[in-house]
Amino acid sequence: MRRPFIAGNWKMHKTIREAVDFAQHLIVMCGQSTERRVVIAPPFTALSAVAEVLKGSKIHLSAQNLHDKPAGAYTGEVSAKMIVDAGCEYIIVGHSERRALFGETDDVINRKLKTAISFGLKPIFCIGETLKEREAGQTFPVVDRQIKEGLNNFTTDDIKPIVIAYEPVWAIGTGRTATPEQAQEVHAYIRDVMGKTYGENISVIIAILYGGSVNPDNIVGLMAQPDIDGALVGGASLDIDSFVRIIKY
Ligand code: PEP
Repeated sequence: MRRPFIAGNWKMHKTIREAVDFAQHLIVMCGQSTERRVVIAPPFTALSAVAEVLKGSKIHLSAQNLHDKPAGAYTGEVSAKMIVDAGCEYIIVGHSERRALFGETDDVINRKLKTAISFGLKPIFCIGETLKEREAGQTFPVVDRQIKEGLNNFTTDDIKPIVIAYEPVWAIGTGRTATPEQAQEVHAYIRDVMGKTYGENISVIIAILYGGSVNPDNIVGLMAQPDIDGALVGGASLDIDSFVRIIKY
């Protein structure tokens, strides 16, 4: 049985103070919940402070990005080792904003995933098609390519810590959610690809999250689908009440 997994991606929002306040409230409202896996991904600047607050709670910490090299002359970048040092367990890799705005290719994402795993981080690996690709009937080939290239040269053991987030780009930050049926169709496809590539056991254990304008009103319908194991939430994770309503759907 896969435990529901709800992750909040705060993107470039919240100061250290705001992030700490949020984490303190979250602990009061659902800090000891074992029924759901709850993860928050604050910006880099707030990670250490939030990690201190989360100590002893059941809420997990994620970063939003990493560099693929372990160290070096890469001004402005943050390494996997630094992210682990800041107290993170998870790392978001391949988010569509990184792909579209920062030129991250499947190859770059593959290197980042490898680095993350080698440092013991659990990747939340994002994939999903654009509106143009969906309208051209390319949804399955696109997610297939993103999976195969993103996970190129991975062993079954490498796959075990990975969580996949299916995030149709046309639904991110647009208020336009995929219907539960549209999402389920792609989730089932992803699970099938993972099973055929890495074995039946992986297809049973791997968590596949949906992301794209998830809110307290649409989470129930999405979570009722057999292959939707949770949600990666952007905008609605910034407000404590809406995030907690999603967690406690
Ligand atoms: C996201 O950024 O991963 C996301 C799904 O954003 P939103 O929920 O705001 O669409």
